[in-house]
Amino acid sequence: MKVVALVGGVGGARFLQGLKQLGADVTAVVNTGDDVWMHGLRICPDLDTCMYTLGGGIDTERGWGRENESWTVKEELAAYGAEPTWFGLGDRDIATHLIRTRMLRAGYPLSAVTEALCDRWQPGVRLLPMSDDRVETHVVVELDGEQPKAIHFQEWWVKHRAGVPAQSFAFVGAEAATAGPGVLDAIAEADAVILAPSNPVVSVGTILNVPGVRDALRKTEAGVVGLSPIIGGKPLRGMADACLDAIGVETSAEAVGRHYGSRKCSENGILDAWLVHTGDRADVPGVAVRAVPLLMSDVDATAQMARVALEMAGVDVD
Ligand code: GDP
Ligand code: CA
Repeated sequence: MKVVALVGGVGGARFLQGLKQLGADVTAVVNTGDDVWMHGLRICPDLDTCMYTLGGGIDTERGWGRENESWTVKEELAAYGAEPTWFGLGDRDIATHLIRTRMLRAGYPLSAVTEALCDRWQPGVRLLPMSDDRVETHVVVELDGEQPKAIHFQEWWVKHRAGVPAQSFAFVGAEAATAGPGVLDAIAEADAVILAPSNPVVSVGTILNVPGVRDALRKTEAGVVGLSPIIGGKPLRGMADACLDAIGVETSAEAVGRHYGSRKCSENGILDAWLVHTGDRADVPGVAVRAVPLLMSDVDATAQMARVALEMAGVDVD
């Protein structure tokens, strides 16, 4: 059973743990719009969160970065006054970024670098960057009476904690980007395609902006099923509501389902089915909606939601 999942960082990685437990052959198409250069290093937050989570190296409390982390390099950089100081780069984590940066500088594409890093972590699912091209999410904000300007997504998310209203998002480089090697083929050849309960704007939304991806989702013979990251009108963790506000979509399971839309009934829609949390309701024209528990409290609970998603996509899970 070949399953493709479109994922971001923390929500995506947790969902992949559930899919993996079902024994599916999983290809994850991972958002790289959060990627950023810091102190001369290329950081890929969502790829690393997936790799560390599935490989058993994640700090489970924080949800990102390495367990047993120390912060000596960060402290030393701060002592030099080296900006930015607001981004957490742990000592262990830095080794990953050093290797990635060295390989990128030697000319390897991000997909090959990711494969090499995964040699160590053995995540048990194929992690494909959505693109090998540089695509970066920027956020247009007005800071303290200044003219509106675009800042990197990480600056908005981590430094400002999404507390400054986003006027809009710019997916810099997306239009000219090509989907990463294997991405479109994996979608075409899948038995099921799942949109993880990841951020619909800056995780799944970013992947959908890579040319060819939306089309591949609309054309695949596999069933396409999404899981709502919004439960009871709120995101579970993080600040997805601030992102949805910026694109004029209400923070509700129904509005996000409608935003993705039906493959059958809407021009750019991608869904056949939409899962919402027990007690939530959604009417999404042309899309089968089911309410089941969507709390990823542990791997078993997550595997159960993944199982329902696969059933809704029309595949038998034994
Ligand atoms: P990020 O890249 O680290 O921000 O992670 P993702 O984009 O992959 O996932 C973030 C989203 O996961 C948030 O919008 C949360 O609402 C959602 N999320 C986190 N935990 C859960 C959960 O247990 N259940 C559901 N349904 N969504 C969750
Ligand atoms: Ca992310």
